Amino acid sequence: MWVYCETQQGELLDVSKEMLGQARTLMDEYNSDEGYGGDEDGNPEDVVAVIVGDDIGDLAEEAIAYGADRVVYHEDDRLHRFRHKPYTEIVVHMCRNFDQEWRDYHEPRYAIFPATNNGRDLSALVQGELDSGLASDCSDLYIDEAMISNPAKTGTAGESKEFERVLHMPRPDFSGFEYSTILCIDKPHRDFHPQGASVIPGTFDMPEPDYEREGEIVEHDIDLPAEWFQIEVTEYDQLDEGVDLSGHDVVVCMGRGIDRVDPTEGIELGLELRDAFEDAAFGLTRGVITASYEFEGHVEQYITEERQIGESGQVVEPDLYIAAGVSGAVQHKVGMDESDTIVAINTDPDADIRDFSDYFIEGDLFEVLPRLTQALENGELASAVAEVSDD
Ligand SMILES: Cc1cc2nc3c(=O)[nH]c(=O)nc-3n(C[C@H](O)[C@H](O)[C@H](O)COP(=O)(O)OP(=O)(O)OC[C@H]3O[C@@H](n4cnc5c(N)ncnc54)[C@H](O)[C@@H]3O)c2cc1C
Repeated sequence: MWVYCETQQGELLDVSKEMLGQARTLMDEYNSDEGYGGDEDGNPEDVVAVIVGDDIGDLAEEAIAYGADRVVYHEDDRLHRFRHKPYTEIVVHMCRNFDQEWRDYHEPRYAIFPATNNGRDLSALVQGELDSGLASDCSDLYIDEAMISNPAKTGTAGESKEFERVLHMPRPDFSGFEYSTILCIDKPHRDFHPQGASVIPGTFDMPEPDYEREGEIVEHDIDLPAEWFQIEVTEYDQLDEGVDLSGHDVVVCMGRGIDRVDPTEGIELGLELRDAFEDAAFGLTRGVITASYEFEGHVEQYITEERQIGESGQVVEPDLYIAAGVSGAVQHKVGMDESDTIVAINTDPDADIRDFSDYFIEGDLFEVLPRLTQALENGELASAVAEVSDD
């Protein structure tokens, strides 16, 4: 299983470490007696970390600590920033190149990438070049058998066949109301096709690094022709750090329920509730960010993607999560359902969020939020909040 480890400013991204941890778990199961016992010849299968960039050689040890058996890296100062052409060519060459001495193992059976901006780009390009498929934005990965009857895959019409060692790649679909599990089953007589997935950051737990682990480090070396660098980055800007919603005791999140009366007032009520706590952050659903509400100036600054919670936003795990006017779509859920205590305020008693809330207040947020804020300011909820924080 190959893991493309994205880096930023000389460090492995967290998602790279998370994927290495999951790849380690999957390959340990795969190699164990209960699993497949290694490859077809019984040799253990490896986790291979792929690192491309400038001055990244030192990260190889870290990738091993997070679970890699082998690290293949390519270093060149022209690779300081992500570039489609050279990055794609390098990773594809690593996958395909049969001749180099360091290759005493097969091409990747599985290739996983982070579902970041650059990782999404690279995963599609690499998998396309390798004539394979890609399940993008996955929120789980496991390996299992699959019974398939499609004649294009089995080779015979009307017959079902069991495929072993199939990477199952669940992802949210249909606007988040269903999960699909994507399989990348090969056609008969075609051996080399990495089953490819990109993985949403935060999907897997951060593993504990083990700096005693040993692994093999291989420098990949090919000439990088000048025509791969025809696009020159002449200028760039460092964005501000942005809003970090993680690490707070409380998160107040507002959803599209704010539009029933007045979106500006809805945001104001959410901000007032946030301010009534000692340490609270203010977040939004994607529904609010993509709706074309007209906000008044003083709250408009809060309506940014930086505050989005969910699959394509931030993942938060506070002691207390208050969701007001939020339906609980799965893309939102994956960003907050690890919170210790979830309180939802919704006018619809059948809203999906009810299923994963600890407390559900059926009511209008325009009435409930001011009462909560008032109760907090009067100290009436102090013991309840303390209890939630201690749990
Ligand atoms: C690829 C992809 C990625 C996505 N990523 C994200 C993501 O990261 N984060 C995210 O949040 N979404 C994401 N979405 C969108 C997601 O599917 C939902 O559309 C979105 O979360 C809905 O936002 P909402 O709950 O605010 O709005 P709605 O689904 O419209 O829900 C509004 C809720 O408010 C309730 N309500 C109405 N009036 C009131 C009132 N006065 N008081 C109290 N309750 C009231 C309603 O009953 C309803 O339950 C993504 C979608 C896709 C396709």
